[in-house]
Amino acid sequence: MSRKALIAANWKMYKTPAEAKAFVDAFLPLVADHTRDEIALFPSPVLLPTVVEAARGSSIAIGAQNIHFAEEGAYTGETSASQLAAIGGTHTLIGHSERRQYFGETDDIVNKKLHTALKHGFVPVVCIGEVLGEREAGMTASVLKIQVNGAFAGIKGLAAEVISSIVIAYEPVWAIGTGKTATPEMAADAHRIIRAEVSSLLGSDVAANMRILYGGSVKPDNATALIGQEEIDGALVGGASLKPDSFASIVKY
Ligand code: PGA
Repeated sequence: MSRKALIAANWKMYKTPAEAKAFVDAFLPLVADHTRDEIALFPSPVLLPTVVEAARGSSIAIGAQNIHFAEEGAYTGETSASQLAAIGGTHTLIGHSERRQYFGETDDIVNKKLHTALKHGFVPVVCIGEVLGEREAGMTASVLKIQVNGAFAGIKGLAAEVISSIVIAYEPVWAIGTGKTATPEMAADAHRIIRAEVSSLLGSDVAANMRILYGGSVKPDNATALIGQEEIDGALVGGASLKPDSFASIVKY
């Protein structure tokens, strides 16, 4: 299987433009000769022009943490896909658990955003994952299946090369920002469930090629065990992506 790993930084609502530029200036030399994996940074919208500019000429991809599904309109505080494209963003997170938890994003909204992202040629990173109560109640598999089905409604009819850009991030919500990580085996189990569901929805070829990242307290000292799993095709990193040396050591797992 030749799925190229994607190691992605989710900076959440951290950093000023000056801090973002300082990160990129320090980070680029640390990963200059690293061609094994793809690397992407997801800063706040206000940082995007600075980060795109600072990373210009490198192979680092830059994306948004969120886009709106509408092309444009009266959506105060939101960012459109065209706005993101115009400043050089190429990727977007969709349906991060913090968006679902604090901003009411449902599987239906995630689905609309995915269609918009694909229409604009972005690489969408669709985030899914169970909360602690769901895991403890033995509902992890059913929650993941519902989220996959919800996110991917209407995707089957799209062109194969469009579908192939989709990335999934499995992020168990109880592991995000908590220091608790899924064991590599737990993560790999969840990834197998997700891949099987993608296979039944979109076919085995699509499923075999789709990258599924793990996220949730990925750190330099657990990155190798997690990303080293056959089923795990990279990482979405929050807290440990805020410092150049820490994120670089995850990239070089
Ligand atoms: P964390 O965040 O690495 O700080 O747990 C991951 C995420 O929310 O994407």
